[in-house]
Amino acid sequence: MESANNNKSVKKKITSKYDLDFQPVFRDLRDLEKYFNGFDSALNNIDIDFNYVHNVISLPESTDRIYYSGEYSQNLFHLECTCENFAKKRNVFNKKDVRRICKHLYWKLSNQNLVDKLTLLLSFDSVYFGYKKMVKLNYEKGFVIASYKEGSSWINIYNKEKEWKKFGYGINQKRWSYNSKPSNHKRLEDDINSLFNNILFVKGINY
Ligand SMILES: [Zn+2]
Repeated sequence: MESANNNKSVKKKITSKYDLDFQPVFRDLRDLEKYFNGFDSALNNIDIDFNYVHNVISLPESTDRIYYSGEYSQNLFHLECTCENFAKKRNVFNKKDVRRICKHLYWKLSNQNLVDKLTLLLSFDSVYFGYKKMVKLNYEKGFVIASYKEGSSWINIYNKEKEWKKFGYGINQKRWSYNSKPSNHKRLEDDINSLFNNILFVKGINY
């Protein structure tokens, strides 16, 4: 029991370190006020979830068994794998968090057609490209997710029209990757530029 408690506290500690990257530091109360005023005007009062966590839906009980992938084994129901990569992530991310998924879990989930398209897109970019920070923008007609990582000015935008689709947007270049853009791109460009340049001030993202 004691070791279980220890694990819990380690998990919380690392998760909050992760969360800290989103929080700007204010040395003056006036800066804080300016920050919130800028926030309201820049984003037209959109409801934004800055620490969005995308959870994998509960899978059927039939997936509570051992699957094999090379030398590693997985349990899809519990979203667990025996590989080293998963061992690192399990202490950082909560049980259903899409960022916990390793490549073995990703391929099993993908091949078995067990999860929705958005979950697959988010887990793929997390596993293979390290896009682990997510912001959710809630619009009147549905939501858009932006994922990013430090040191890259390319942001992934997940948008649903007929189905969920990923687009790449360069925050410095102010252009869409391969010129592929969603139909609501004008508003999204405004919101994404405001969000990343005026509000998040993400370390490393603006060089
Ligand atoms: Zn694995």
